[in-house]
Amino acid sequence: MITIHEIYQKLLDRQGIQRWWPAESDFEMMLGAILVQNTNWRNVEKALANLVTFIEPEKIRDMPLEELAQRIRPSGFYNQKAMKIKAFVAWFGVYNFDVAEVKKQPLDVLRAELVGIKGIGPETADCMLAYTFDKPVVVVDAYTRRIFGRVGYEVPKKYDDFRRMLEESLPSELAVVQTFHGLVLMHCKEHCLKKPICSGCPLESDCLKVGMA
Ligand code: SF4
Repeated sequence: MITIHEIYQKLLDRQGIQRWWPAESDFEMMLGAILVQNTNWRNVEKALANLVTFIEPEKIRDMPLEELAQRIRPSGFYNQKAMKIKAFVAWFGVYNFDVAEVKKQPLDVLRAELVGIKGIGPETADCMLAYTFDKPVVVVDAYTRRIFGRVGYEVPKKYDDFRRMLEESLPSELAVVQTFHGLVLMHCKEHCLKKPICSGCPLESDCLKVGMA
């Protein structure tokens, strides 16, 4: 079976470097990581557009919860997400909203703190770790599960087990893990859609197409 590193390399050869995360600031990145839960990026963009002059931690901290919820309404689950964002900003405030201070924490400590915030699960935490706090962690999401399942891997059900499986096979480098996640997203947009377009897929010759028969 094709190795994890070969999958990475084939996608990289096709798509080039994809240090994906569409955000203009670290704080916007982290807001996006919460807003994208259970929705697509188009809806996140609409929510961020409603916040456009408020994308600073102090402004979000001071914004009434109800107003925040209404502004992020396009992202869905807006009442819950508003509370999650408030909880996240309260945590960030402990570091004086200083990303450089947060980065000084060891990876394990930081991950534990992030998943300890109400509403921040391991995927959201790892997005922040990889794209804001410069920690070389592999982000696992539904797209990653889709590709690896279809190619023929027995994908571990538990998030951390799957993440570790991937991390053991990829170099522990920030550029690699950021690119890997970006490649996965691009691949699922272009080829491995819900209804896949296998013709021309760079993994086609190695893919067992599990569940596709
Ligand atoms: S061959 Fe088809 S099912 Fe397999 S990875 Fe490519 S697009 Fe997905």
